[in-house]
Amino acid sequence: MARDLIAALDIGGTKIAGALVDGGGKLVVRARRATPAQAGGPAVMAEVSAVLAELAATAHWSRVAAVGIGSAGPVDASVGTVNPVNIPGWRDFPLVAGVRETTGELPVTLVGDGPAMTAAEHWQGAARGRASALCMVVSTGVGGGLVLNGRLHPGPTGNAGHIGHISVDLDGDLCPCGGRGCVERIASGPNIARRALSGGWRPGPDGDTSAAAVAAAAHAGDPVARSSFDRAAQALAAGIAATAALVEIEVAVIGGGVAGAGDVLFAPLRRALRDYATLSFVTGLEVVPAQMGTDAGLVGAAAAAAQEQRLEGFGPQATPGSPG
Ligand SMILES: [Zn+2]
Repeated sequence: MARDLIAALDIGGTKIAGALVDGGGKLVVRARRATPAQAGGPAVMAEVSAVLAELAATAHWSRVAAVGIGSAGPVDASVGTVNPVNIPGWRDFPLVAGVRETTGELPVTLVGDGPAMTAAEHWQGAARGRASALCMVVSTGVGGGLVLNGRLHPGPTGNAGHIGHISVDLDGDLCPCGGRGCVERIASGPNIARRALSGGWRPGPDGDTSAAAVAAAAHAGDPVARSSFDRAAQALAAGIAATAALVEIEVAVIGGGVAGAGDVLFAPLRRALRDYATLSFVTGLEVVPAQMGTDAGLVGAAAAAAQEQRLEGFGPQATPGSPG
């Protein structure tokens, strides 16, 4: 039987999703459990194993060639462990060893959720056909990943491109990561909402103080809401410009809930980029919204595994018309 599927896992603070992914990026079988994020490490692992067992119980399992895991980070792919900020029970947790208890001899690839999303956008989304790209998720946190020379660049530990925790404000606020003035500390959804509230913005009758509510107010012309998005856009632009200068990316792809604000975010972001991305070789940089939806983590985990395991017929290298 042809080994033409990859078992993919997308592990986050709220859900553990699994799928068998085919060479076209289609999810042939799906499984999903809630993440018991506040439970101990073994309890979280039990849910991961349950998702895998559900996939393994299907007739398609014999077609699986490899396992790809995209996990909330940081991860350490060099030793197969994870330290997700939003899963406190997992500290230096041996996730790959735990997965192997179900998957046996199959090769396992682990990357952070930022690189996983990046692999998905490169395979089938907004970075398709690009030789170099920075893909970002702007949501409760800010994460990202890099495509360099037409390939996902996960780095030695699977975290490369983690733009949320580079500093764009030298004397800025302390960040939960221990740094100061991080992109995430300015541009994440909760920080956009916090800044709008402290500037005097008040929610509507429904009491919704999410970044989406701030975005709605900004669309309606509220100056405080607009200014909070402008500041987030400025932080993102500075981080993107720095990345472009370092590795010459041609496109920055932005997804996640905050990107759903649309022009309220993208218009000031493109303006701010003109202030920060000024050298001749970065002025052509494009900024575009992500195209992959909630399945990006699964599709990308499969693409990352296909790349590492050099599987034929998967990922961007198999897409007609793309470089590499
Ligand atoms: Zn930080």
